[in-house]
Amino acid sequence: MRDRAIQLAKEIGFDVCVPMKKEALVFREDVRAMCRADRCQSYGKTWSCPPACGTLDEIRARTSGFGDGILVETVGVMEDEFDYESVMDAAARHKERFLRLSECLRKEHAGVFPMGAGKCTLCEHCTYPTAPCRFPDKMTPSMEAAGLLVSDVCRICGAPYYHGKNTTTFIGCILF
Ligand code: SF4
Repeated sequence: MRDRAIQLAKEIGFDVCVPMKKEALVFREDVRAMCRADRCQSYGKTWSCPPACGTLDEIRARTSGFGDGILVETVGVMEDEFDYESVMDAAARHKERFLRLSECLRKEHAGVFPMGAGKCTLCEHCTYPTAPCRFPDKMTPSMEAAGLLVSDVCRICGAPYYHGKNTTTFIGCILF
């Protein structure tokens, strides 16, 4: 399945795609503490973010049966460090690619677990906390929400975390 996933990721256009190493799956309380500090202003605002996405023990239990996976990256190039438009373009490109890849793999195999970049943005207004998630089969937590330190995951898997001056990188992984 890994070869198929890598082939699909390349076809979809990801700039980097490498096998995920199981030892990179370290779900850390200090990363969760950064979520609680709410620097991204998403804590407690969607079903995809803490606390709604589950405790670290629940995420460990959900992922314990997965033996393989891939890590994918979308790299954006900015004109300068203030080029926010290119950052947003790259973020949207990554979200679209990641959703496509997750959907393709979910159609081909029952058990896949995607973890994306940033909060779920499938709906303009998330239903959290007043009504159930509209798309529980499409929604994914971010890697950070799952407690993964993304720079460490990249290092362990042999993928670049930084692509040089005036670049921005969005990263996700899919376990299977
Ligand atoms: S799919 Fe919609 S309701 Fe569910 S987490 Fe995403 S934004 Fe919220």
